[in-house]
Amino acid sequence: MTPAEALLQELGITEPEEIELEAIAYHVGARVRFRPLCGCEAHILGCGGQAVITVKHDSSARRKRFSIAHELGHWRYHRGKTLVCRVDEYRPRDGTSAEKVADAYAADLLMPRYLFLPRAAALGRIAFDSIGGLGQAFQTSMTATAIRLVDLDQFPGFVISHTPRGRKWFARSPSVPRHWVPRDDLDAKSFAFGVQFGGRSDDSAPRKISADAWFDRQGAARFMVREQTFRVSRDETVSLVIIDDKAMLDDR
Ligand SMILES: [Zn+2]
Repeated sequence: MTPAEALLQELGITEPEEIELEAIAYHVGARVRFRPLCGCEAHILGCGGQAVITVKHDSSARRKRFSIAHELGHWRYHRGKTLVCRVDEYRPRDGTSAEKVADAYAADLLMPRYLFLPRAAALGRIAFDSIGGLGQAFQTSMTATAIRLVDLDQFPGFVISHTPRGRKWFARSPSVPRHWVPRDDLDAKSFAFGVQFGGRSDDSAPRKISADAWFDRQGAARFMVREQTFRVSRDETVSLVIIDDKAMLDDR
């Protein structure tokens, strides 16, 4: 169990809706206040055993939850150190930066395994509507919830973000061999291309497509994957790419 999950258990939290971040912050000596902020979503100032977390007052409720959880990650791991927090949207990060540590703490606090995994297993099929239902229960964004499912290997596949300038990030489930790397740019064959550039509306469900639309690797065309794309903002689309073919997972 991670420190964030241990903290939730210590507080006797047994349901997702009991994860009240301001109360949890108070328990660890941090007060939360909401203020107009310019250029960042949140920051934390600590001295001794006390801290003040300031969160941008006009962000969405889910965004505020993520920001508080992220700052609590800094409070757990980086207190006493000088760092300029760049809390951003939740996305996969490389390496072992302080921001990644704080993001991982936030994911554990907002979607602890002992509450998240049983509900994820009960989803049945993986698609944005069921992921959205899970996000509703945990008060997390569609993107953060999808990344969590992938990170915890709840289905073999990817969550991939694109802007008109190309791929922004991707998350790959541990059961997918690392040589499967999504293309940098959207392939015109992908359904995502039509959503990103063609003004097409979001897919209502994952659809079958040849794997070479997503992976620029010899032999990719032998496989089929399923893809579903939705638009998260004016610029950005997020795609689920689900691997059903066992041979693609065994392919070395
Ligand atoms: Zn940070």
